[in-house]
Amino acid sequence: MPDVEPISLAQLTTLRTGGLPARMIDAHTTEELIGALREGWGQGDELLVVGGGSNLFVGDDPFEGTVVRVLTRGIERMPSPRPGYARLRVQAGHDWDELVAYAVAEGLGGIEAMSGIPGTVGAAPVQNIGAYGQEIVQTLAAVELIDEGADEVLTVPASELGLGFRTSVFKHHYGSVAARPAVILSVTFELPEVGHGDRPVAGDQLRTALGLQPGAEVSLAWVREHVLETRRRKGMVLDADDPDTYSAGSFFQNAIVSASFARTLPPECPRWPVTPDLDPVLVIPLASYDGYVPAAVSEESDVKVSAAWLIEHSGLRKGFKLPRSRAALSSKHALALTNRGSGSAEELAQLARFIQGRVQSEFGLVLQPEPVLVGVEL
Ligand SMILES: Cc1cc2nc3c(=O)[nH]c(=O)nc-3n(C[C@H](O)[C@H](O)[C@H](O)COP(=O)(O)OP(=O)(O)OC[C@H]3O[C@@H](n4cnc5c(N)ncnc54)[C@H](O)[C@@H]3O)c2cc1C
Repeated sequence: MPDVEPISLAQLTTLRTGGLPARMIDAHTTEELIGALREGWGQGDELLVVGGGSNLFVGDDPFEGTVVRVLTRGIERMPSPRPGYARLRVQAGHDWDELVAYAVAEGLGGIEAMSGIPGTVGAAPVQNIGAYGQEIVQTLAAVELIDEGADEVLTVPASELGLGFRTSVFKHHYGSVAARPAVILSVTFELPEVGHGDRPVAGDQLRTALGLQPGAEVSLAWVREHVLETRRRKGMVLDADDPDTYSAGSFFQNAIVSASFARTLPPECPRWPVTPDLDPVLVIPLASYDGYVPAAVSEESDVKVSAAWLIEHSGLRKGFKLPRSRAALSSKHALALTNRGSGSAEELAQLARFIQGRVQSEFGLVLQPEPVLVGVEL
């Protein structure tokens, strides 16, 4: 097994926290990755699979198990059964933004608005990454994975991955375990061949972020360049010289609340309707059918509310920190908790709890963290 000298998880995560693991394996090929997983599962080891470490919040204590780093790389272009589309099969350890750059250079659309998101392709389905209205659920065809403890490698279509707002069956999220503990080996995308010319930009969110009028036409490369610029201004592109990027991106998720609860929040709080997941088929058993078909029940849809707005309006400004702490809100983005140097996980957790407490006492809801928490509690 390609064992390497363990290094602390603080060096492997963008929040820069986490102790030394007992063992570390660098998997450069799919065979090495499968071998490491099978050995670890066979021995009952605690395994932590790490890609770019950009969505992990790890506690300060040494990690007693094995860290498996996914370092596989490669993009394979294949024909798609759909005319006008191409399929890309990408190895799990491939850098996400390098994939976006490749797609844009090839004139393939559908992921350009997600330029600059850190991390690996294999971790992207875990929380169904997204930005400016694009999410990978829109272009994901299938993943190749191995289920925990299993021998066989399976190809699973995107429709079976439970992809929702920053979640999937894979997410071992705060307060919940993954519905399907599995490791993704490769990801297949189906992307439209749109070419390099100017074309209308789909989606209000993207147009607004880029300052475009409805109907404005720009190229994929233009979108990528301007998304990167916009993200840099918010500290949302990793930069070793900018401590505002020593984060996990958005630390808290936008809250999903009932429509009636949303009405109790100040009207200025930004909100977006969440389409209800209703089963459109009403089945009436023949034995009980008496000729009456009830009217369709119209349910009020839930509402997604802006966590950044709630934080700022509970009195916590960008750059806020607790006295003597090395953890602070980013000076550019109220949702990003940042490590201003060699701050500990406990300092970040204290800040996160403080923010949760302020928002709860001001607005009556508890913000939930977005990164995966390992060995640390809020
Ligand atoms: C500055 C910054 C900006 C960000 N902006 C965004 C954004 O705009 N939109 C967004 O959605 N996210 C954003 N994020 C969050 C993060 O970049 C994404 O969630 C990313 O997909 C994480 O990839 P990773 O390789 O770093 O995963 P890691 O942090 O290494 O792992 C995250 C989780 O996935 C698991 N995992 C990793 N690889 C695999 C695999 N191959 N198979 C199964 N499980 C795996 C890990 O065990 C862990 O539970 C941002 C983060 C930062 C630091």
